[in-house]
Amino acid sequence: MEKKYRRETLCVQEGWTPKKGEPRVLPIYQSTTFKYDNSEQMARLFDLEDSGYFYTRLQNPTNDAVAAKIAALEGGVAGMLTSSGQAANFYAVFNICESGDHFVCSTAIYGGTYNLFSVTMKKLGIDMTFIDQNASEEEIQKAFRPNTKCLFGETISNPGCEVLDIEKFARIAHRNGVPLIVDNTFATPINCRPFEWGADIVTHSTTKYMDGHATAVGGAIVDSGNFDWDAHADKFPGLTTPDASYHGLTYSKSFGKMAYITKATAQMMRDLGSIQAPMNAFLLNLGLETLHLRVKRHCENAQRIAEWLSQNDKVAWVNYSGLPDNPYHALAQKYLPNGSCGVIAFGLKGSREEAIRFMDNLKLICIVTHVADARSCVLHPASHTHRQLSDEQLREAGVAPDLIRLSVGIENVEDLIADIEQALG
Ligand SMILES: *Cc1c(COP(=O)(O)O)cnc(C)c1O
Repeated sequence: MEKKYRRETLCVQEGWTPKKGEPRVLPIYQSTTFKYDNSEQMARLFDLEDSGYFYTRLQNPTNDAVAAKIAALEGGVAGMLTSSGQAANFYAVFNICESGDHFVCSTAIYGGTYNLFSVTMKKLGIDMTFIDQNASEEEIQKAFRPNTKCLFGETISNPGCEVLDIEKFARIAHRNGVPLIVDNTFATPINCRPFEWGADIVTHSTTKYMDGHATAVGGAIVDSGNFDWDAHADKFPGLTTPDASYHGLTYSKSFGKMAYITKATAQMMRDLGSIQAPMNAFLLNLGLETLHLRVKRHCENAQRIAEWLSQNDKVAWVNYSGLPDNPYHALAQKYLPNGSCGVIAFGLKGSREEAIRFMDNLKLICIVTHVADARSCVLHPASHTHRQLSDEQLREAGVAPDLIRLSVGIENVEDLIADIEQALG
């Protein structure tokens, strides 16, 4: 779209602009392959001299329309969909880190990302140092090495609900000549656009609020186009020196602001193949069309429930940045002035068993390994998603052993409170 529209309009209309006689609704291009008239046309695609579709493992028109919508919402230059949020975070880092490199990461991140970075990527020879995101700049600086290639954090951490000081992180990253990558899954671009605060790359698990209905696992990477790879050419040879697998093409020279995302598509996706199915991209797009309405309702309901929980004497603690006495309240007011998300972390007085009894008593709110969809749900990370971690690792990741993660949906809030009340007994 030509004009700069506001977020609500982008949610509904961006990405697919049909021409005369074409479908009004984004079609599902359920085709692995695309036809050309002669061999020369096809050859130019393989040399990245023309843009176009040839095989869905690299690019598909349905996916590209949805990626363009997400990129517009984030205010980036381009985006790419992946098969899952895990794939998005892996590609986002692996696109600029290779064996022998190192990166720095907040401990307050999703459990799956924690395992990916601390176990699986180490096996690829990529080293990583965890830091406390609330530490001073001087303290965080100590984790940086000459071979450090990026800094990583989550806008609002899953499941600890810690709010990231994005400007501080951006300053540290840029002082060290590396990009800041922010996983913006929980905030969504409706509540926060990390690029406005200096982040360079944004990732998403679109499985969460973006899809919003728990129908399709997916991920996305968005490039701000702001990081100057050539200014730090020695650190990023993958972007600034010729790629032998594309006849010696250099991404930063040929694609400028689109260098990072082009490499992610043309090299990472070509070789590793975690493409999102076009059918899932279609479902994701339906979710995105109402993202602005749903996120607002999730936040309103969560605020009410967080206030209610904090008044209840069976509740030991509540972590929701919308509460005035919350340690992240000031950061949330700066970065998330319209609301944070629908996820509340809280603990009950008594033992771990108390948490399990409470969850088993819930009727409307279900126990599921999911978060951030229309239906309210609950999870006990210490006995579910994070069960591989010791109590000490749990605390390091901002997850208290008694933490209950309540994902507040878009149902009637009085019905939700009634369910919580009866389950508390
Ligand atoms: C769920 C989640 C992921 C992983 O996404 P999947 O789509 O489940 O692979 C990554 N980051 C955050 C913040 C998440 O909540």
